[in-house]
Formats: sequence, structure tokens, C-alpha cells
Amino acid sequence: MKIFDIAIIGAGASGLMSAALIKTGEIALIDANAKIGLKILASGGGKCNITNKNVSAKNYLGDEAFIKPILANFTPSDLLSFVSDFNLELEQRKYGQLFCKNSARDLVGIFERLTKKCNFFLSHKVLHVEFKNHFFIHTDKGTIEAKKLIVASGGISYTSIGASDIGYKIAQSFGHTITTPAPALVGLTVQKEQFWMKELSGVCFFVKLKVKDRVFESDLLFTHKGISGPVVLSGSLYWDKGKIEIDFLPNQDILQLIEKGGKKQISSALPLPKRFIKEFLNALGIEDKAISKLTCKEKEALKSLKNYEFAPAGNFGFTKAEVTKGGVCTDEIEALSCESKLQRGLYFCGEVLDVTGELGGYNFQWAFASAHSLANQI
Ligand SMILES: Cc1cc2nc3c(=O)[nH]c(=O)nc-3n(C[C@H](O)[C@H](O)[C@H](O)COP(=O)(O)OP(=O)(O)OC[C@H]3O[C@@H](n4cnc5c(N)ncnc54)[C@H](O)[C@@H]3O)c2cc1C
Repeated sequence: MKIFDIAIIGAGASGLMSAALIKTGEIALIDANAKIGLKILASGGGKCNITNKNVSAKNYLGDEAFIKPILANFTPSDLLSFVSDFNLELEQRKYGQLFCKNSARDLVGIFERLTKKCNFFLSHKVLHVEFKNHFFIHTDKGTIEAKKLIVASGGISYTSIGASDIGYKIAQSFGHTITTPAPALVGLTVQKEQFWMKELSGVCFFVKLKVKDRVFESDLLFTHKGISGPVVLSGSLYWDKGKIEIDFLPNQDILQLIEKGGKKQISSALPLPKRFIKEFLNALGIEDKAISKLTCKEKEALKSLKNYEFAPAGNFGFTKAEVTKGGVCTDEIEALSCESKLQRGLYFCGEVLDVTGELGGYNFQWAFASAHSLANQI
């Protein structure tokens, strides 16, 4: 039986980047999907938000001491110069986000070229892994053997495009600790008191959202299930339970708006979508009337538009979550080389690790940077 120098489980962002950058040895690249890079193709509305101009360890949930040197060794500029060698055209959008100008397919095309040297085992679902002098990777179509193994199998969000918990299972079989996986970059469901929000499905506007000590500013989208949109997805990374606070009128002085409102109806005086104001007032039991007719108590209640506090019921779940937070505990992984401290020759990169980025290109940057880090050391 042939023994490969390196086997990589996962032909997603981190597995492809590892395969592209490893210079020596015969590589087996294994994926359950029939095609490589499916999540890259599905990302960023088909245009893949590949990175962000403003990446720092502060944009990630995980151990800063582990994350920082890996990000420093492969910065967004390094990624940009890597893809510019292949003439990948990018466009910058707000908040420093960089997207493929034409299509995410262009990025996958680069990886297709760079991984031509690999032996592909596509449509091979990995079932479990054993180590006896070297690694035996058992798949639904037979066993692949290798001296070193890179687990780049991602998290468990979006099972519709091949996600599985195999990375956690392999890690556990070698004695690793798994930080409980949970959906992240995901919409939040609401409790009975906030069911009025469900009536606003499709309404979207700019708000400020506070979760614990983090504040995000971007669009909030109401849906029939609860709240979503970029601001909520980012906030969901840091929310597990407890209250969040929304400022529905960021950069506006509510007292001035009320003072100046005079005879104007509340829904006309406040610069907010009318559908939203109507449901908000209903929930407070206030009639949409002239501002001048508001009682002191009602004025006080209106002020909660600036700091509306509530505890979400939960989230939309793994099927809708863009990423999985939690994963292989980084205390048991060597910083920089990403090698297991418990089993030599076993490496982890990308989302399978307990490192999760905010919305805006941070997760691809992590996938690429961690792959770069191990490819340099393997
Ligand atoms: C819809 C969507 C949009 C996103 N948009 C963005 C974005 O624009 N910007 C951004 O930064 N991040 C985005 N993300 C997050 C980003 O895609 C991931 O964080 C990133 O792809 C993780 O890379 P990875 O290599 O660790 O895992 P993945 O890209 O998930 O790759 C893992 C691979 O392992 C394979 N695999 C899993 N189990 C097995 C098994 N048992 N046997 C064999 N193969 C297996 C899978 O088929 C998959 O190909 C998005 C995610 C989703 C779901």
C-alpha cells in the first residue's frame, strides 16, 4: 500500500491553501465533496469576502496568544500579494472588506492550478483515523495512508455543503479537548416579548448593537424567525446567553427629536422605517399620535429606542450559521506550526480550531493564515 508523505482532510479554504503552499512531498487531498472549495464558491454571495484590511486578533474569539503570531506571519497584504500573482481582481467594500471582483470561482481556479501536484481523493468521506507508525485514514471508499496528517475539515455549520464533525472526532481520538461547538455568525431568535419583531420581516436599517463589551454598527434585518443582518451576525459571535442592547437611532439625539417633533406624528418625526415604528409603538402600547400629545411616561418609554435591551431566545442553528465557534482547543496545539502536542505529525488548521472570526473576511483570513503557518513548518 502506498504511503503518502502528507494527507490533508478537507479541500476547503485551509486545506487548499496548505496543499498549495507545501513545497515537498507527495500529498493526498481528501474531501467528501465531488468538487473542491464548495464553501468558497458559496461565500460572500458568490464573490467570497476573502479578507479584511483591518485584521487583528481582537476580531477573533479564541486565545489571543495563539492567534496573534499566526495572523502576523500572513497578513491581509501577504494574502493580497499571493492572489495578485495570479491576477485575481478584488474590490473593496465598506468596513475594509475585500471581495473577488468577478466571482469566487476565480479564487478556486487559482487553487486548482496550485494543487495539480496533489493526488485527489474526492467523494471520499473520512470515517475515522488510526495511527500505527503512520496515519491510516479510513474513508467510505477505502483507506489512505500517510506519514503526516493535516485536519482541515472545518466546523459543523452548513452541512448542506459537506460539513461534518470528523475533525473533532479525530482530535478526540488522539486525546484532544474540544471546546463545545456552537453556531456563530447567525441570526438570533426572540422571546415572546419581542415577537413584534417577527411582524417586520424584510425591514432592514442601520443600528448599533452591544453584546457584552463589544459594540457593532451595521444593518439589522428583521426576519420571520427573529433578527439577522450583518450587525446581528457579528454580535452572535460573542453572545451565548443574556441580554443584548440595540440603539435603533445611532448618531441621533432622541431628546432633540422629541423636542422638535411638536405637532408631527411620532412615525413622521422619527427617522425610522414606518413599519418599524408602528410595531415598536404597538409593543409599548403607545398610539401613533402628535409628539406634543405624549405623556412624560410615554416620552420616557420612547427613549428606549436608544438602548433597547432584551435577551434573545436562541439562534437560527447550525444549518443557517456561517461558522462554528468552539472546536479543537488551542492549548494542545503548537503555536505557529499548528502541530498537535499530543500526536506528532498531526496538524490542524482553519475553522476546526477553537478560533472564530467576526463577519467581514476574518474567517477566510484565519483559514489562509493558519494553513500558511503550518505549511512553512511541516
Ligand atoms: C454561506 C457561507 C458564507 C461564508 N462567507 C464568508 C466570507 O465571505 N468571508 C469569510 O471570511 N468567511 C465566510 N464564511 C466562513 C468560511 O467559509 C469558513 O470559515 C472557511 O471556509 C473555513 O475554512 P476551512 O478550510 O477550515 O473549512 P471549510 O472551508 O469548511 O472546508 C472543510 C472541507 O472539509 C470537508 N469535509 C468535512 N468533513 C469531511 C469528511 N468527513 N470527509 C472528507 N471531507 C470532509 C468539507 O467537504 C469541506 O470541503 C462563510 C461560510 C458560509 C457557510
